[in-house]
Amino acid sequence: MAHVSEEDILAYIEELETQNEFKSELISTSAHQLRTSLTANKWALQMLIKSSYGKLSEDQLKLLTKITSNSQEMIRVVSELIDTNHTEDTHPTYNFGPIDIHNLLEEVIGDFQGEASEKDIVISFDETGPKHTIIGDRTKLKTVFQALVENALKYSPTGGAIMIHTHTREDEVVISIQDEGIGIPQEEQQHIFQKFYRAENAKRKESVGSGIGLFSSAHIVEAHGGGMWFDSEEGSGTTFYVSIP
Ligand code: ADP
Repeated sequence: MAHVSEEDILAYIEELETQNEFKSELISTSAHQLRTSLTANKWALQMLIKSSYGKLSEDQLKLLTKITSNSQEMIRVVSELIDTNHTEDTHPTYNFGPIDIHNLLEEVIGDFQGEASEKDIVISFDETGPKHTIIGDRTKLKTVFQALVENALKYSPTGGAIMIHTHTREDEVVISIQDEGIGIPQEEQQHIFQKFYRAENAKRKESVGSGIGLFSSAHIVEAHGGGMWFDSEEGSGTTFYVSIP
């Protein structure tokens, strides 16, 4: 076997690091470009749906609503890609500031109202919970709650209910998102926060999915000094919890 010197190995590692940086850069630039185009398309679709350019038939409206919801899913996946790319950086950038948690949750629920009513699902928010201002990165935390509400919708049957609560536990706010969906099989629960992992029943119900949402959400929540966990029973439903100091 040829002799490999320490110098060769170091040079090789350096080359890999450069390649890795180049790849991250490429992913980041492409993903941002994709997100900009997708967001523009979504806006154009919404203009059509609002009949800004003429009245549409019911079938046309249905189809456009479906395309809009698919665009939203693509925007989410691309955003996750951007976040995952960031979480692998040694220095992820967080912009911390005060966040009104009720206001944030209401905003997220509003984003999914169209999709929910299409599936005949009611998202209810218990507003009697404590109103708290937490310190965090609003944009990043929003993607966490978007991922959780989106999953609750995605893995719920038509007509299901989704309930969102907040409560305080010692010096933390705990937010829960409960659904009556397919649940997570007991034997797969330990893998659920792993990158790219999707449970078998989820793959059967929804072929589209990345298995990145929970992985990057857990990273974001951890960066806030909080935690994420869930209770679930296959066939009965799932409750995801997020705690933030
Ligand atoms: P994706 O939903 O794109 O597959 P996620 O990372 O968001 O990826 O979720 C990972 C997996 O966790 C899902 O594929 C599914 O198996 C499971 N899961 C997440 N949320 C729910 C839920 N509300 N109900 C049932 N299973 C869920």
